[in-house]
Amino acid sequence: MEYKHFSHEHTLNLYRVQAGQQFRCHGCQKMCNDSIYACWRCNFFLHEHCGNANRYVKHPSHRLHPLVLVPSPTYCSGSFLCNGCGAPGNAFSYCCPLCEVDLHVHCAYLPPNVNHKVHQHELIINFTTGEQAGNLDQHCKICTKQLNSKNWSYICSRGECDFRVHTYCATSEVKPGLYQDDEPDTQIPTQNPAASNPNTSTGACGNQPQKTGLTPEEALAEVMQMQLQMQMAQDFAQMMASFNLSHLAP
Ligand SMILES: [Zn+2]
Ligand SMILES: [Zn+2]
Ligand SMILES: [Zn+2]
Ligand SMILES: [Zn+2]
Ligand SMILES: [Zn+2]
Ligand SMILES: [Zn+2]
Repeated sequence: MEYKHFSHEHTLNLYRVQAGQQFRCHGCQKMCNDSIYACWRCNFFLHEHCGNANRYVKHPSHRLHPLVLVPSPTYCSGSFLCNGCGAPGNAFSYCCPLCEVDLHVHCAYLPPNVNHKVHQHELIINFTTGEQAGNLDQHCKICTKQLNSKNWSYICSRGECDFRVHTYCATSEVKPGLYQDDEPDTQIPTQNPAASNPNTSTGACGNQPQKTGLTPEEALAEVMQMQLQMQMAQDFAQMMASFNLSHLAP
């Protein structure tokens, strides 16, 4: 079965990795076992879950903006620091260019809750960083190393336990497709004034179809457009601010 991925010019084939074979994923730089998408001409490989990752997600760790999947970091350094695990990455990331939020694909799809043999209760993912919670000096109850106050953790679902661990100590599981984005969007303000006007909602003329028929490319274009507009609005506000200041200056 042939497959086209936006980050690679040739079609890819799904391939089942055999014992003893070694392939590194171009999406996350980790080794592949199980199923991969392969371009044998270029030795280009993707985990099945990296190849299938949605072009954008509404992620619960960053509700402000949709995160966009980019094939390589948007920074001139060529790498990013993952807000989830704190480790650097130089391949695929889910990013919010406005807020400099970057996630490995496997961190974006960490399971919301896991069980680990070292603790009897269920652990839940915690996007509130130590920095936000005001506890900067905490140690992982699994590896005993310090928890980075800027990154996520898993905590015991029962508050009284005070059990907190690194995401990567808690699990290596990936839940691809966890944050599907095919519900109609309620956060992006609609461009169409008729949609918010109750007078036209039952009329024959004002009923615009819901935006459910967008292809991922169209939806992505819309997201990028929205982010661009916000960026321009910010730039404009800054420009106006400096303009006013320079005029008020004596
Ligand atoms: Zn991968
Ligand atoms: Zn190729
Ligand atoms: Zn990460
Ligand atoms: Zn953002
Ligand atoms: Zn740890
Ligand atoms: Zn517990």
